[in-house]
Amino acid sequence: MEIEKKASELKAQGIDVISLAVGEPDFSTPEPIQRAATKAMQDGITKYTPAPGFLALREAIAEMVTRENKFGVAADEVLITCGAKHAIYLALQCLVEEGDAVLVPTPAWVSYNPMIELAGAQMIPLPLFEEDGFRANVDRWKGMAIPPNARGILLNSPNNPTGVVYPREDLIRLVGWALQRNLWILSDEIYEKILFDGVEQTSIAALGPEVKSHTITVSGFSKSHCMTGWRLGWGIADRELIQKMTALQSQSNSHVSSIVQMAAITAAKLPAHYVTDMVQAFEKRRQFCMERLNRLSEYVTYVRPNGAFYFFLNFQRFLGTKKMSDVELCRDLMIKAHVGLVPGSSFGRDKYVRLSYATSEENLGKAFDRIENYLKNA
Ligand code: PLP
Repeated sequence: MEIEKKASELKAQGIDVISLAVGEPDFSTPEPIQRAATKAMQDGITKYTPAPGFLALREAIAEMVTRENKFGVAADEVLITCGAKHAIYLALQCLVEEGDAVLVPTPAWVSYNPMIELAGAQMIPLPLFEEDGFRANVDRWKGMAIPPNARGILLNSPNNPTGVVYPREDLIRLVGWALQRNLWILSDEIYEKILFDGVEQTSIAALGPEVKSHTITVSGFSKSHCMTGWRLGWGIADRELIQKMTALQSQSNSHVSSIVQMAAITAAKLPAHYVTDMVQAFEKRRQFCMERLNRLSEYVTYVRPNGAFYFFLNFQRFLGTKKMSDVELCRDLMIKAHVGLVPGSSFGRDKYVRLSYATSEENLGKAFDRIENYLKNA
């Protein structure tokens, strides 16, 4: 937030700041989805809806997930929420008691910790290691004392900030580890469609009926369908939990906008090429970033990301020599190079920096010229 504030100040002074800090695709929402929203308005679908969402939408999501994520879902196991974020929030509020603990492989998305704390629990980080390619390696946690009040684990693959997709075999071991400890699994799969290098996404709930019964799957259209501002996501869980989450939604935000829900029915049935075209554009940018980063290997290293649209850059060596923190580096890059990046410490890992390539190749080119120039002259 501090960096965004500085960016706004510089922009107000007429300075051309390039932000590589954003967590949303820069493409517009596919036109059929836009048209469906307009039609819903014109058709007068502007009244209250059922709290869990229109049945037609819950059915469309259930069908899509059953087909694409390879686990059977019924419409009444789906709750339509204001983005994936609100599904995570509602699930945590319903699952967690005051004084509980929730395990989170870290580095992790910035909102998990505050949401866990708002539910009255404490987040316990499970460290992920660059040497493991930031994959979830349960062997690393074997010696850790997991407190008896740990109730659940929050997983995120493809991952923000690392861009790493956990392979199926890692997930099987991880889930075995979690179920042995009687933990529920909250699986945030919001980047599930943004995959590279031929990797496949495995939904945790697809690992078997026993696993599904312990899992809450969260996703949405924000990233895959360029709909961040529309606020549409979902939670999938057993009926009892869905009912609790619905009650909480009903007494707070009531439901997602009727117009957005109608547009989401179109999104759920959209031909696949809309998403794959976007992923191809991201792929070109990812390649471009890797070429540029490889030229800077004496300053910065990275784990090749195979999902989402981020690089998690290791600046340990550079920061060690300069006796700087990652926050100071990001501040400096903003003020001196006019490039916005997010310090790794926001995700629970200092000496790293997250770069988002959800911007044009032209912007990426300019940003890399500036970063290179800064690093070589610092
Ligand atoms: N989960 C992760 C890991 C994210 O990075 C984000 C957004 O940046 C979200 C959830 C929120 O998604 P939504 O906009 O659908 O609420």
